[in-house]
Amino acid sequence: MDWSTIHADAGGWARSHHTTSDPNHRKAFANAVTYLVTGASGGSHGPSLREHLVSWSLMGIGGKIGDFDGLTVLYPDGTLPRAGQWDYDDAIAFAAPLCFDSPEKFLIQLVQISAHEHHFDDAEVDITAVKKAVRAKAGICKSPGCNRCLHKANKTGYCKNHRHLSPRQKEAVMRAKGKSV
Ligand SMILES: [Zn+2]
Repeated sequence: MDWSTIHADAGGWARSHHTTSDPNHRKAFANAVTYLVTGASGGSHGPSLREHLVSWSLMGIGGKIGDFDGLTVLYPDGTLPRAGQWDYDDAIAFAAPLCFDSPEKFLIQLVQISAHEHHFDDAEVDITAVKKAVRAKAGICKSPGCNRCLHKANKTGYCKNHRHLSPRQKEAVMRAKGKSV
């Protein structure tokens, strides 16, 4: 099968198996599957965070991220086939969770990718999740649109106006309510 046939087939698979998913996730999937099978990236879309996530996942658990003259270089641990060596069905099974599961599942990698790679045509949910994580790391309130800096001792990730949004705080409220009953 040639590049465009594989790309069209993978796109069709995404549309029939993930009918309500974000179109940007489906496009990333079609590009990623084609890359795994042919070894050639391309398409008019992206590369998005999810397309990079599939390439980065080829590193395996023991893989390393390197930097060569400002270019990000990935060193795979050798446990997975390289791009261009994948069987079509295996590529579908490998790429589907990486492209369609919730961004929270891959948050650490997505934040790393956003710091290392140029990315385009991302799903809104991915951008929101990454921004939220980056803000939390920088000590800025996690509530979208709030730019208050947090005190170093703050463990909730939210400023005093948004403290009620913190899961920790919600738990404490539930516990307090339980006691008073
Ligand atoms: Zn806030």
